[in-house]
Amino acid sequence: MTETVAFIGLGNMGAPMSARLVRAGYAVRGYDLAEPARQALADLGGTAAAELADAVRGASVVVLMLPTSAIVEATVRDAGFVVERGTTVVDMSSSEPMRTRALAAELAERGVTLVDAPVSGGVARARTGELTIMAGGEPADLDRIGPVLAQLGTVTRAGAVGSGHAVKALNNLLSATHLLVTCEAILAGERFGLEPETMLAIFNSSSGRSGSTETKWPSFILPGSYDSGFGLRLMLKDMRIATGLADQVGAPDPLGHAAAELWARAAEALEATADHTEIVNWLRKDLTR
Ligand code: NAD
Repeated sequence: MTETVAFIGLGNMGAPMSARLVRAGYAVRGYDLAEPARQALADLGGTAAAELADAVRGASVVVLMLPTSAIVEATVRDAGFVVERGTTVVDMSSSEPMRTRALAAELAERGVTLVDAPVSGGVARARTGELTIMAGGEPADLDRIGPVLAQLGTVTRAGAVGSGHAVKALNNLLSATHLLVTCEAILAGERFGLEPETMLAIFNSSSGRSGSTETKWPSFILPGSYDSGFGLRLMLKDMRIATGLADQVGAPDPLGHAAAELWARAAEALEATADHTEIVNWLRKDLTR
């Protein structure tokens, strides 16, 4: 029998991820608040559910790809009355690790398993099934959803439930801080008279390279497209998760807090829908001396 996967959250990431599961032969029932997102899944051969309950009823795996922990919690509680014992809920959103642990304990009391499997790689690698998936949960639970995750990317097991979410937030703190300082370096170099392309070529064969110099600047900033598909506000959310985690465990994080504060100012100044790569335009416009 074809396994039924409920997929909740069909946005920039959820759309290509759920499309891959449809193409792999799963019976995918998708739900999103946005009707066009549901229609897009139906057009690909999935089933668009008009209500959350219709998507999750009878599904053995429920994948969540939603913006925040608050929305994940509300969704899981709303869906709670139809999620059956034995179902595995996989939160692939970038959620808050402490809240994930608490939600997992709440669900376990009802015989429902929660694992976390957030991703890195953006929309491009979601399309090709080459995401980096960082998973948290019991090994047997991760084994059970292994075939579904294998359609989406490569899984590294990070530890107990919540561990994937912790490492994802920390990864994005690195990524955002790298991007901010890369923008600062390139704007300074331009004022000196250097070409951005020349600087990037040199950084990329030197110790200053990162995902920002290798991908974000060449693919989204230099062409002026700013279309990475990852919102600036979602990045700020992740930075706050990471700095909050550092505070909760008592780890030193002065640079992370400073970077998050700058990112918050950019989020205030830019459109709500701004791509995270537009941080460079905030530096150019608002901080130019
Ligand atoms: P998005 O805003 O494009 O999509 C989120 C979708 O969730 C939207 O379609 C929205 O309508 C839907 N939604 C919101 N509330 C809902 C609800 N209560 N019920 C049903 N649907 C609801 O966001 P995204 O870029 O796809 O990101 C999703 C998650 O993945 C976030 O946690 C983000 O931080 C993370 N992430 C994003 C990227 C990226 O490159 N975009 C990469 C890695 C991780």
